[in-house]
Amino acid sequence: MSDCLFCKIVAKEFNAEIVYETGRTLAFRDIKPQAPTHVLVIPKDHHADAATLARADDGLADEVLKAAHAVAVQEGVAEGGYRIVFNTGADAGQTVFHVHAHVLGGRDLTWPPG
Ligand code: 5GP
Repeated sequence: MSDCLFCKIVAKEFNAEIVYETGRTLAFRDIKPQAPTHVLVIPKDHHADAATLARADDGLADEVLKAAHAVAVQEGVAEGGYRIVFNTGADAGQTVFHVHAHVLGGRDLTWPPG
């Protein structure tokens, strides 16, 4: 999508600190980190949110989840514990409508989230 920020990051038209990449996924650091590790993992193809990603039915959601875990391992937070968050819809706080998994770790994460 031409007006999608994360599609522009995929197309390398907009800069981001990329930390992990596969054929169909990309992971880059959040510009406003909420934890020592805060990485966004996206499918390169545009899907608005987790609901549409789940409906893709071609293994892409599985790839995004596997990439999120690989990022946690690479960042050194997998053993201590980390969180994968998909804000889905405006009421849940989603602000960028290209589905992304937040991978958060490196500090104690409280529950429930705000
Ligand atoms: P959401 O609120 O949609 O779940 O998360 C969107 C995330 O994208 C936010 O955590 C926000 O900080 C991050 N973000 C917004 N604009 C940019 C940007 O230009 N570059 C990067 N790397 N992250 C961004």
